Amino acid sequence: MSPYLCHIDPDCLRFEARVVARRPDGVLLDRSFFYPGGGGQLADRGTLAWEGGGSVRIDRIEMQGANAWHCFDTADAGRVPDDRVVVDVDADFRFLMSQLHTGLHLLNALVYQRFEGSLVTGVQMAADGTARIDFDLPAADNNALRALEPALNDLIADGRPVKALYLDAAALAREPGVLRSRSVAPPSQADGTTRIIEIEGLDRQACGGTHLSNTAQSAPLRILKIENKGQHNRRIRIGLVS
Ligand SMILES: [Zn+2]
Repeated sequence: MSPYLCHIDPDCLRFEARVVARRPDGVLLDRSFFYPGGGGQLADRGTLAWEGGGSVRIDRIEMQGANAWHCFDTADAGRVPDDRVVVDVDADFRFLMSQLHTGLHLLNALVYQRFEGSLVTGVQMAADGTARIDFDLPAADNNALRALEPALNDLIADGRPVKALYLDAAALAREPGVLRSRSVAPPSQADGTTRIIEIEGLDRQACGGTHLSNTAQSAPLRILKIENKGQHNRRIRIGLVS
């Protein structure tokens, strides 16, 4: 896959673009800094505006191959001009997703380190400030998992830098622990490298989402619920303290 522009410049939340294709409920742009969704993270939302004062709300991204359709209500069909537009990424929503995503890395790191390299079997973040992550943890005591909450918040308060780097296939083979999903391999970049998110002094794992640049930017997290999902899976639900 080509690198997402939101990976190259995650702070770019307003950009100009040109409409290159259209359908009743969306447009393709010649470039976009929207996160298109994936890996359990919801796609960015935002607005698309044009000269003369018109605008539409982009409420979802629909991927068609490598093309990201920026979708709006069909009532707005025909309003978007075939011209240059100014696009705003919803900063609050991006921040919410980035907090949840970074928090899931912290929790994943703690589980991986303290429960014998347990791997992830599923992840989903939600717009209400909660997220769930499933681990292959057949023998874990739920109270021991619940007891991770103070350590999770200590890591947030530590203010650890979070950064992205890229490993080639040889480097990836030397560090298999960065692949945390039991079944899904992260997509490699066009140059064959894999994107890794490093939380300084704590953890490195392959990931294609958006994250904070420092853990201290996050609100505290609560462990809301732990459920047994089948024989192997343990589901941990977390929520941001608002
Ligand atoms: Zn991530």
